[in-house]
Amino acid sequence: MMAIFEYAPAPESRDIVDIKASYGLFIDGEFVDGSGTPFKTINPATEETLAEVATASSDDVDRAVQAARKAFGAWSALPGAERAKYLFRIARIIQERARELAVLESLDNGKPIRESRDVDVPLVAAHFFYYAGWADKLEYAGFGTKPLGVAGQVIPWNFPLLMLAWKIAPALACGNTVVLKPAETTPLTALWFAEICRQADLPPGVVNIVTGAGETGAAVVGHPDVDKVAFTGSTEVGRLIARAVAGTDKKLTLELGGKAANIVFADAAIDQAVEGIVNGIFFNQGHVCCAGSRLLVQESVQEELLAALKRRLGTLRVGDPLDKNTDVGAINSAEQLAKIRELSQIGESEGAERWSPACELPEQGFWFPPTIFTGVAQSHTIARDEIFGPVLSVLTFRTPAEAVEKANNTPYGLSAGIWTEKGSRILWMADRLRAGVVWANTFNKFDPASPFGGYKESGYGREGGLHGLEAYLDV
Ligand code: NDP
Repeated sequence: MMAIFEYAPAPESRDIVDIKASYGLFIDGEFVDGSGTPFKTINPATEETLAEVATASSDDVDRAVQAARKAFGAWSALPGAERAKYLFRIARIIQERARELAVLESLDNGKPIRESRDVDVPLVAAHFFYYAGWADKLEYAGFGTKPLGVAGQVIPWNFPLLMLAWKIAPALACGNTVVLKPAETTPLTALWFAEICRQADLPPGVVNIVTGAGETGAAVVGHPDVDKVAFTGSTEVGRLIARAVAGTDKKLTLELGGKAANIVFADAAIDQAVEGIVNGIFFNQGHVCCAGSRLLVQESVQEELLAALKRRLGTLRVGDPLDKNTDVGAINSAEQLAKIRELSQIGESEGAERWSPACELPEQGFWFPPTIFTGVAQSHTIARDEIFGPVLSVLTFRTPAEAVEKANNTPYGLSAGIWTEKGSRILWMADRLRAGVVWANTFNKFDPASPFGGYKESGYGREGGLHGLEAYLDV
């Protein structure tokens, strides 16, 4: 679509972050060398190297677990109100350093600064504030007050700092200590968080950050002195972890993939639904486990809705993640871009119709235009597999019962969306959808007080809210 006027660039300055040439592991309150081969983390929007980062070997992971074990005694013995003070302090420092964290997250991950600044970082602070509030009230939560011990936590690259907050805040509030491994492509904000722990005078060993690839993650998960494993990532690795943990005393929570249905009824406010569809699948380049990647639209409004959606996609600005006007940033890695391309190719070859708005993509970096597929059948690969990119598959339905049937026809069950004017229909649908989170007339809304988690192959256990405490207490 022709822009009515051009936007002048509005880049956020990156001067606020001072990235060093190399980073070590954070063990027992100190930055130390790793014994594995270091790796580079790059800016996916430019392919420029941001820093070299240490790889933790299994010996390094062992040191980190020992440090966490040593710290556990004193940390778990602190009165909850004292632990809360540290968490409140961390939350406040995150707020104070919000701009720096947002810029760094956008540099390392590729997400638009508008999102890292207005969504990720505020939610990170909110999670620490929320669980700080629970630390001295555990006895009222109903899961006892006994922490599990050392938590081994492995997180993905799509919300690097937010997933860290989801894991670390409840663990610490309940009196556990942690060893966390960030994803290989996005380690920087976790290392900044390590620095924030020092700034907050958190006792050494309570939080340990070990960087590295999948092998480092496997060493964390498999360490015999880890009491609790928390993982967010692909269903495939989730299965490996479930196998590794089976037969041990470790407690496990898994937050895995999704293929959410975003269901639009004919009586929905169409313009509002279009915004919800865009937010559902193009937020964070679609690198969202609960993304509304399958649009189910009632047949009678299909044409009207698709016309409005295409018009809206024509106004999305794809490009420099640090530009405050940008709506869709860079794909996080070359591997992820290859996967999105491959699945989109399969979509075409299986007979779905592909459409993207005209948009110029930067030459350097990893980019994929917002894409919709129409004429998608339930049997198509793009209706079943998680693409984890800015790609929407459109299916239709005629009756509410058919919508439920199609929405539930997936091995996943993380989230769903319903768009309708009728409250009774929302309740009727929500009762029948097999999904951990059901949004009504909105999508991708997160709050630290709401539990989040899946059914079926989307994993088990809940993070967030009162329910999130259960995963870190010896119930
Ligand atoms: P992974 O599940 O491989 O990565 C998640 C985390 O697990 C990373 O820190 C990763 O390390 C680590 N890891 C990898 N292998 C192991 C292992 N054997 N034991 C323990 N930890 C391990 O996801 P990918 O990043 O490879 O993405 C692949 C696909 O997964 C995506 O295309 C997407 O479809 C889906 N995905 C889903 C997410 C969700 O939230 N639902 C999040 C991320 C991905 P490293 O970074 O070094 O590989």
